[in-house]
Amino acid sequence: MCQRCGSGASGGEEDCEPCESDLRFVPRPLGLTGTSVAILDFATHTNYTFHVEAVNGVSGLGGNTRPLVNISVTTDQTGPSLVGVVRKDWASDNSIALSWTEVEQQPNDILDYEIKYYDKEQEQSGYSSTRTKAVSVVVTGLKPATVYVFHVRARTAAGFTAYSNKFDFSTGDEYSGMAADQGQVLVVVTAAVGGFSLLVILTLFFLITGRCQSFIKDKRKSDDKRRDHFQNVLPVPGIKTYVDPDTYEDPTQAAHEFTTEIDPSRIRIERVIGAGEFGEVCSGRLRTPGEKEIPVTIKTLKGGYVERQRRDFLREACIIGQFDDPNIIRLEGVVTKSRPVMIVVEYMENGSLDSFLRHHDGHFTVVQLVGMLHGVASGMTYLSDMGYVHRDLASRNILVDEGLVCKVSDFGLSRVLEDHPEPAYNTMGVKIAIRWTAPEAITNRKFSSASDVWSYGIVMWEVMSYGESPYWEMSNQDDDDDDDDDDDVILSIEEGYRLPVPMGCPVVLYYR
Ligand code: AMP
Repeated sequence: MCQRCGSGASGGEEDCEPCESDLRFVPRPLGLTGTSVAILDFATHTNYTFHVEAVNGVSGLGGNTRPLVNISVTTDQTGPSLVGVVRKDWASDNSIALSWTEVEQQPNDILDYEIKYYDKEQEQSGYSSTRTKAVSVVVTGLKPATVYVFHVRARTAAGFTAYSNKFDFSTGDEYSGMAADQGQVLVVVTAAVGGFSLLVILTLFFLITGRCQSFIKDKRKSDDKRRDHFQNVLPVPGIKTYVDPDTYEDPTQAAHEFTTEIDPSRIRIERVIGAGEFGEVCSGRLRTPGEKEIPVTIKTLKGGYVERQRRDFLREACIIGQFDDPNIIRLEGVVTKSRPVMIVVEYMENGSLDSFLRHHDGHFTVVQLVGMLHGVASGMTYLSDMGYVHRDLASRNILVDEGLVCKVSDFGLSRVLEDHPEPAYNTMGVKIAIRWTAPEAITNRKFSSASDVWSYGIVMWEVMSYGESPYWEMSNQDDDDDDDDDDDVILSIEEGYRLPVPMGCPVVLYYR
C-alpha cells in the first residue's frame, strides 16, 4: 500500500492520500509472492510512505494489530511541472496532435518531454508513453471515437519534473476524419478565390471530392506516420537517425534510397547454407567494382511471391542499408530489377552464435566469450543511438565471423517464430519470442532500447552457458496444456525468478 503525504511542514496524517494508481509497481502492488518490487514514476518533492504486509490464508482472522512495515521516502530532484496547458491541435480517427505551453522562466536544460496517455474508460489496463524534443507531438495508434487522458512532463539533466495536469481529448470517428479532409480542401479553395468563382469551384469540388478524399487521407496517414516516427525517437546529436522504411508509401523508393542495386552478373552463388523465411540463403562471391571477389551471403526471394512478400523481404535490406557499424551485419546491395530478387550481405564464416557455441561447448576462455558479448553490446549501442529498437535480440540472430567478431543481424522481425522452435506469445497480432522479451514488452508491447537491454541479458546468459536454452523446458503462459504455474516463464519472471548463474560464469558478469 502506498500513501502520498503533503510536502513536509504541514504534512500530518490528514494530508495523506492513496497513491497506488499514480505509481507503477513492477510486477504489481498486491499479491506479490516474491520479496521485491520496483516502483517508478514518483513525483518530485513528495513524501511517500509504503506499507508492506505479509498475508496468508488466515490473516483476516487475526487480532487488531497488523504486522506492517512502513518505509518512507521523500523525493527531491528537480522542481515542479514545467508544462502548462496542453492543447489538442487536431485529431483523426486514430491520432491526436497535441501541443503545450512551457511555464515562464523556462530553464534551458530541458532534454525532452514525456507524454503519458491512456484510454479513460480503461485506465486499469495500463498506459502508453512517447517522447519528443518539441513542444508538440502526434500520438498515433489510438482507437476511434475514444476519450484519452494525457499528461506531459519535462526531463532535465536532473531527472523528470512533475507531470502537468491531466487533459482529456477524444479521437474522431471515420466520418470526422473525412470531414476534416474536406474542410482542409475547402479552406484552401476559399482563400484562393472568391464570389462567383467559388461557386464554380465548389461544384467542381463536389464532383471530384470523392476521388480526392482517399488521396488526401492516404497522404495524411503517411505523413502522420513519418512525423510520428521522427518525434518518437531521440537521436543522439551527430549520429544519423534510423528511418522506418514502412513510412515510404512506395517501397521501391525506400529501396532506392537505402540500398545499392547490384548487377546479378557480379554474383556467383556457390551453395545453400540455410533456409530463410522468404527463400534459400546461399553463400557465394561478389565481384566488386574494383574487380576483387569477396565472400557474401545471398538471401533469395522464392518465386511466386506476392507484392506484400517482396516488400517485406526488401524491408530488411532497407533497414540494414542504413547502418554502418563493425558489429552490425553489412549490406552489400540488392537485386530488384531481375529475378530472383536477392539481398546480398557480408559472409559470416561461423554462422549464427547459438549453434556456433553449441558446437564448441567449453572451447573458449571467459575473455573470448566476453569479447563476443562486447561486440554484441557495441552493435546494440550503435542501434540505440540511431533510434532503432531491435525487438528480437537473441543469440540465434547474432552472426559470427572467422575472427569471432559478433554482428547483430535479423532485422526482419516478421520471421520471429516461423522457423524457430521457440514457442510464441501472440500479443495483438504480433508474435514475439517471450524468453528473450522484457515483461513490459510482453504485456504492453512497450518495446524500447531498455527492452533490448533485457534481451541482451538473456544473450549474455546464452553465451556464458554455450548456447543453452533460456529457462530450459519451462513453458510459456499461452501453452494450452500448461497447468503447472511453477514452470511458467512469464509468471515466474513476474514473481522475481531469474535465470541462475551459468556454470563457470564469473560473478562480475552475474548480478542479482
Ligand atoms: P536468416 O533468414 O537471416 O535467419 O538466415 C538463415 C540462416 O542462414 C541463419 O540461421 C544462418 O545460419 C545463415 N546465415 C544468414 N546470414 C548469414 C551470413 N551473413 N553469413 C553466414 N550465414 C548466414
